[in-house]
Amino acid sequence: MANQNYNPFENAQTQFDRVAELLQLDEGTRQLLRQHRQEIHFTIPVKMDDGTTKVFKAFRMIHNDSRGPGKGGIRFHPHETADTVRALSMWMTWKCAAVDIPLGGAKGGVICDPRTMSAGEQERLCRGYIRRLKSLVGYNIDVPAPDVMTNGQHMMWMLDEYESVTGQRFPGMITGKPVGHGGSLGRTEATGYGVVYCLRECLKNMDIDITKTSASIQGFGNVAEYAARLYTELGGKVVAVSCWNAEDKTAYTFRKADGCDPAALAAIKDSFGSIDKAKAIELGYEVLPGDAWLSQDVDILIPAALENQITPEVFPNISKQVKIICEAANGPTTPDCDALIEKAGITLIPDFMCNAGGVTCSYFEQVQGNMNYFWTKEEVLEKLENAMTRAFQNIYDLAKEQNLYMRDAAYVIAIKRVAAAVKARGWC
Ligand code: GLU
Repeated sequence: MANQNYNPFENAQTQFDRVAELLQLDEGTRQLLRQHRQEIHFTIPVKMDDGTTKVFKAFRMIHNDSRGPGKGGIRFHPHETADTVRALSMWMTWKCAAVDIPLGGAKGGVICDPRTMSAGEQERLCRGYIRRLKSLVGYNIDVPAPDVMTNGQHMMWMLDEYESVTGQRFPGMITGKPVGHGGSLGRTEATGYGVVYCLRECLKNMDIDITKTSASIQGFGNVAEYAARLYTELGGKVVAVSCWNAEDKTAYTFRKADGCDPAALAAIKDSFGSIDKAKAIELGYEVLPGDAWLSQDVDILIPAALENQITPEVFPNISKQVKIICEAANGPTTPDCDALIEKAGITLIPDFMCNAGGVTCSYFEQVQGNMNYFWTKEEVLEKLENAMTRAFQNIYDLAKEQNLYMRDAAYVIAIKRVAAAVKARGWC
């Protein structure tokens, strides 16, 4: 569950302000970039299967679109808030800029729990969401995608609704579509693989052999699963995986000291990333409390769930063995913990670089859709690997050259690109 003692938007602004100061950014640009260009708050009435109507609160926000149309996922979560969407859309701006793709930052969310809704109820919610936003989204305005607890099926319902109300076909209005329905091969793997491309490059730079490393992961949704799969393929050992258990309303950590098998765990998880506890025990996994993932004696921690998980309060529980924190989630570390991580000499691969593989592949999906010509999975993954490796190395090199914490180095690169775009447009 997200730690509600921290406000993610305040965190995002704190991170931005620190680097805006470092760059001596002019006041107008600072004001523009610490706020949103557009915020939509609305409600969606949904006819539930029992005949009652339930009203859901929803959001869509564009943080900045100077480099291209807004881009970012839609999250379905019972604890979604306006400030979470504000933070996530701001991070999307930096994410697209960090990997240098011509898109801006946006994000959406609905306060709901799809785990307790039927497929029909989810479909009506998706259609209601896009119907309300029909003139505010589009391939050249703002392009949604999946995020926490949304998937390709949700995107298809939204695409169909949009095309029904506009009367035309617009495959580029949404990404994360299923393969065969306008989606890109490799999109499912992209975010998790991107995390591991960054990790692999980081280890190379640090002269550490990946086959001699171990990792502990928080979360087992799409991102965590594919990160675990590729990391294991490259020879790393995943010692523990933690995830939310909707039935027991608590999180558990599943541990196997000689290495978890990501494919076996994927086979016993539901579509929201909850691993079946009884089946995991049958497979020989130890079941520990949800926060045990953080205190494992491993070289790498991969938070791949929600924001505000690594705080000064839990920092002392991190093993002295940890060398790298690989932020697969958006905003998993609070700003007051960054200083502790830096002081402890732990290398942090910042979120908007580490998890940029998803949006990079979304961009490839749009390019392929526009050409109406689809690449092979090998081509997609090769382009993804090149884009992620290049972007990561730029950030890593800048951090080394200027002795910067890697999060600050990533912000320097991203903010400079966005500031150049707003200047070129004559906004500031
Ligand atoms: N939701 C993903 C993210 O946070 C992907 C966004 C996209 O593809 O637009 O990066």
